[in-house]
Amino acid sequence: MTAGSLSRLRETLAWVYERVPFYRARFDAAGLRPESVDAGSFARLPVLRKADLVASQRARPPFGELLAARREEFASIHTSPGPIFIPRIAAERGGTPALIEEIAAMGVERGAVAHVTLSYHLMPGGLRIHRAFEEFGCLVINGGTGNTAMQVQVAAAYGATVYAGTPSFLRQIGIVARESGLDPRRDLKYRLGFSTAERLTPELRAELEETFGIELFDHCGEAQIGPVAGECRAHRGMHLSSNDLFCEFVDVATGAPAEPGSIGELIATHLGPRALPLVRYAPGDAYRLFEGDCPCGNPSPRVDFFGQVGAIRKIKGVLVHPIAVADVLRKFPEAGRFQVVVDHPAGQSFDRARLRVGTIDPALPATERARELAGRIGAAAKDALLISMDVTLCPEAEIPEAASGPAFAEAIVDQRAH
Ligand SMILES: [Zn+2]
Repeated sequence: MTAGSLSRLRETLAWVYERVPFYRARFDAAGLRPESVDAGSFARLPVLRKADLVASQRARPPFGELLAARREEFASIHTSPGPIFIPRIAAERGGTPALIEEIAAMGVERGAVAHVTLSYHLMPGGLRIHRAFEEFGCLVINGGTGNTAMQVQVAAAYGATVYAGTPSFLRQIGIVARESGLDPRRDLKYRLGFSTAERLTPELRAELEETFGIELFDHCGEAQIGPVAGECRAHRGMHLSSNDLFCEFVDVATGAPAEPGSIGELIATHLGPRALPLVRYAPGDAYRLFEGDCPCGNPSPRVDFFGQVGAIRKIKGVLVHPIAVADVLRKFPEAGRFQVVVDHPAGQSFDRARLRVGTIDPALPATERARELAGRIGAAAKDALLISMDVTLCPEAEIPEAASGPAFAEAIVDQRAH
């Protein structure tokens, strides 16, 4: 933690302590004074979970007990699924400075035409990124979601060079453009893309770069927290929005501070005045923390999204998220849904992990090829996940649908005694 970020944190906490009795009670109970917290003592303050925020808003509708501003001071009101109600005061930049930094790091030029295709309805995403592009000096198209054919027309007519939205919608734009007889590379001018609200897999990135001749930049944000991290031109992880957020990462299993090189759960604290300030808020997301400095020179730490904490299991001493298994299986077109079954056989020293892969062709598991395919999947999984699993193939129908993404609720079955 730098001296600057510590003083900014203390300043914000003093502001919050003054205005929000809910947080004041938490500070007092922990024996903490906002003006003297440091990284060690700050961790004594209880973590605020999404469920706490929802409970607080249900108890005192609509905004709950965390408000730091009067209703007359609100400039806008956003909503996120739950629903969670998110008011914003005019003085609150709502993630804009962090987004402007990311836009600059992408190499966007002032005056460029930016096409924003996030939803402008209810949720904060579309407006947030729109405001940031406008303030940066771009000409912004408020595309929103849907109406793909018209979006293609508008992007072509205005000569949009910057795309902002989900990678899957960009893919759809490419498909619809081709259907209308346009060449996505020549007739659309996208060269830089801000990819958000969805996972940007290496395969999808390569496909979109090929289709459009665009350079994509991954971004991670959260409705309540705002922008969390974004990629720079080095494309080696996403830099944390250090000017907007004070980020802590803790070990998913022990709660101890997570070290660079490991995986940690995010606990975020807003910096600066907010209508609904979040202090030590954990949305349940885990990130992989990078080691060392980025060649771009930005000193802000880099992360990669790892997955939702609830779906992560420690298997043979390694944290595994079903997304990582899905990434391995995506390279095998024969594979459908899967399930990892972990148990600890009596009398054995180690856990045992079995990967059951459902095959799209129900006849495949009974064929000669099955053993060879299972062997290749096992080798690829060991390479990527660093654990050995016994791989068996079965018809996909035998794997429960609840094992599939993005929730992966039943993708890891833990049969170990706890
Ligand atoms: Zn960088």
